[in-house]
This record gives sequence, C-alpha cells and structure tokens, in this order.
Amino acid sequence: MKINREYDYLIVGAGFAGSVLAERLASQQNKKVLIVEKRNHIAGNAYDEYDEHGILVHRYGPHIFHTNNKLVFDYLSQFTEWRFYEHKVLASLNGELYPIPINRITLNKLYGMNLQTDEEVKEYFQSVREEKNVILNSEDIIVSRVGRDLFEKFMRYYTKKQWNLEPKELSPSVCGRIPVRTNADCRYFTDKYQFMPKEGYTKMFEKMLNHKNIKIFMNTDYKKIMNDVRYDKMIYTGPMDYFFDYIHGKLPYRSIRFEYENIEHEYFQSTAQINYVDDSFEFTRVVEHKRLSENKTTTTTISREYPQINGEPFYPIPTYENKMKYNLYKKESAKIKSILFCGRLAEYQYYNMDQVVSRMLNMLKDNAGLI
Ligand code: FAD
Ligand code: UDP
Repeated sequence: MKINREYDYLIVGAGFAGSVLAERLASQQNKKVLIVEKRNHIAGNAYDEYDEHGILVHRYGPHIFHTNNKLVFDYLSQFTEWRFYEHKVLASLNGELYPIPINRITLNKLYGMNLQTDEEVKEYFQSVREEKNVILNSEDIIVSRVGRDLFEKFMRYYTKKQWNLEPKELSPSVCGRIPVRTNADCRYFTDKYQFMPKEGYTKMFEKMLNHKNIKIFMNTDYKKIMNDVRYDKMIYTGPMDYFFDYIHGKLPYRSIRFEYENIEHEYFQSTAQINYVDDSFEFTRVVEHKRLSENKTTTTTISREYPQINGEPFYPIPTYENKMKYNLYKKESAKIKSILFCGRLAEYQYYNMDQVVSRMLNMLKDNAGLI
C-alpha cells in the first residue's frame, strides 16, 4: 500500500495523548496529521458506546473525569458539554458495604465506634498507625496512615487481585492514590472539576478529531503502514517494548477481562462502583454503567473486572524492576530525535486522563515544533 499524501506528523494511537496532540497541531499550527489506530475506534481506553440495551457503557473500565486543572477543563470544554457527576464507591467486605476512601463513617460502621469529629478520627488513626521512617512501598504508605487492620481489610486483597503482587512489592504511588479522610465525605475524588462528558467520551473525541487536516486509519497497526507513508515526524503513544521489538524483554502491563451482564431490573447496586476488597470473589470491582450517565432504561448493565496478565495493556506495573527495564527502553527512545514517545503506555506511567491532557498541552506550549 502506498499512501501518497505527505503528512507532517504520523501519530500512533487515538487516545487522549494522540488525539490532543493531533487536534492542537492541526488547528493551531495547520499541520497535516495522520493518526493510525489499531483498534476499530477512537478515544483509547476512554472509549464508550451504547450497548444493545440502550445503555452507555465504558468498554475499558469506568472513566471518571476529575481535575483541579482549569486549563485542562477549559480545553476539553471546547468539545463537549458536561454533566455534573461525583463518583461514589463502596467497598464490599465480608458482605457489608463501607465507604471507600476510608472515612469516619467507615470506621464507625466497621468498629462500632461513635467518632464525631475530624479530631477524634485523627486521634484514632494516630493510635493505630505504624511509624515508618521511610515509605518504600504501597504497604508502608497505608499502614503508616491507617494501621495494619484497615490495610489488611481494604487494601491488601484488592491490590493482590489487581496487580498479582503484594502491596509491599508495589511503589507507594499505587495505594497512595487513595486518600484517607477524617471527615464523612464519601466522594471518591475531591477535585474542583468533576464532570462526565454529556454525550460520552467517544462523542467528545469525534469533535476533537473532526478537522480537515486530520486523517485517521482505524484497524491498523502502525508497523504495517509506517514504511508506506510519507511523514516528517512521528508521535508514538503505544507500548514502548513493542516499538523496540522487545529488545530488552517484555515490559509488563496489567490487563483486565471485562465481563458484561444485562440485568432485568432498573438498578443492580446502590452506587456506580463497588470494590470487592476481600478474597471471596475473583473480580475486583463491579460497575453499574447507567449510573455514570443519564440513561433512563428499564434494565441495567454491569461489568465485573477480572485482572489478568495477558491481553490489552492497561496499567503499567509500578515496581522497581519494571522501572529499571523501562529506563533501558527510554535510553533507546532518547536516541531517536524524530519520534516523540508520550502517554500512559509509552511513558509507562499510571496517568489519569487529565494528567495526560495537561502534559500534552504543556508540551505544545514549551516547544511549538514538538520534536
Ligand atoms: P490510551 O488511551 O491507552 O491510548 C493509546 C492508543 O494507542 C490506544 O487506542 C491503542 O489502541 C493505540 N495503539 C497502541 N499500540 C498501537 C499500535 N501498534 N498501532 C496503532 N495503535 C496503537 N483516568 C481517569 O482520569 N479517570 C478514571 O476514572 C480512569 N479509569 C481508568 C480505568 C481503567 C480500567 C484504565 C485502564 C484506565 C483508567 N484511566 C482513568 C486512565 C486513562 O485511561 C488514561 O489516562 C488515558 O487513557 C491515557 O491516554 P493515552 O492516550 O496515553 O493511552
Ligand atoms: N485499592 C485498594 N482497595 C480499594 C481501592 C483501591 O486496595 O478499594 C488500591 C489498589 O491497589 C488499586 C489502587 O489502590 O489498584 C488504586 O486505586 P484506583 O481506584 O485509583 O484504581 P484504578 O481506578 O486506577 O484502577
């Protein structure tokens, strides 16, 4: 296949990283961009679509937009209207439901206490927390905040299921993502901007990529066409090890199998997401998708998440060994001046959506030519 038109940029991947850069380069710098996406859709892991029951489902796990970054919010607001949404998660432990992140209500229900103020909760944590001089891993960070019992109950088994590693084998940043509250705030996030794209993420991406300078090849692995396309520079947002033909071995990414079920009831569970934090179930969480959008349907669709090693790469696995291996790839990538490696897969970083958008916008600010 020969593609005669010449492009300024070949962008691999139509997720947030690839799409934000494509949109900016096309609309602000009048660059001609070809996006190559191996899946049959845009939006990367934020992809959502209506299932056959009329319910908007997130195909790669629940994607909740939250940010404190006004620039990111304003930027994305050009392509979507928003619906106010604050995510609330419950943890299922031995058949009982508790607010997660751990807060005052969690403690009172779990231990039959009657803590009334932030001060009392702080004192409680103080009495059970383990002193750590250095925080080396995900176990250290949690036991140093809330003590061993809460760590064992809410974090240990969920983490083991999610990563197939003990928390002490993972960087503190993994479990450290989850805050600990002394108040009764049951929201999963406390960011200033918490919204969902009114018509879904895919529609937002469609608007972003609808530009005369942007062309997209779907269902195409970039390796199949890269020698047939004429382009100046490449932006790569796929996995680093694949790009370099695994010369330093496979870089582990964690994957998930999503099991969908439609249920003949209006609702299935009391909140959008329930985390199964003990080891009685193999899945980590159950998401009720219509609670993430404005769907009014008589049935409901849920998905159960079964983490696994094989399959689509979703999560970089933040261990020391993996970071060392990634650094070998990073050194290789630094030798290639005409290719920019960015995004969650290529940078091997556990980024949220807003972090990726912010990084891409900053990159453009710092260097108008990018690479
Ligand atoms: P991706 O979205 O992974 O996009 C990369 C694209 O490159 C993919 O479409 C892929 O198909 C394509 N690609 C890869 N290799 C090739 C190739 N060889 N040829 C062509 N195309 C290729 N963030 C939040 O802010 N809130 C959340 O609630 C949230 N929940 C999440 C839940 C799950 C289960 C997961 C996995 C992630 C979640 N995230 C969440 C993170 C969010 O998905 C990422 O921050 C975001 O998708 C990163 O965008 P990206 O463009 O870097 O990567
Ligand atoms: N986690 C946990 N119990 C919970 C929620 C999270 O142990 O109820 C740990 C687990 O290791 C998880 C990490 O904290 O992978 C980050 O949680 P988050 O909800 O941010 O995961 P994501 O939505 O990114 O999968």
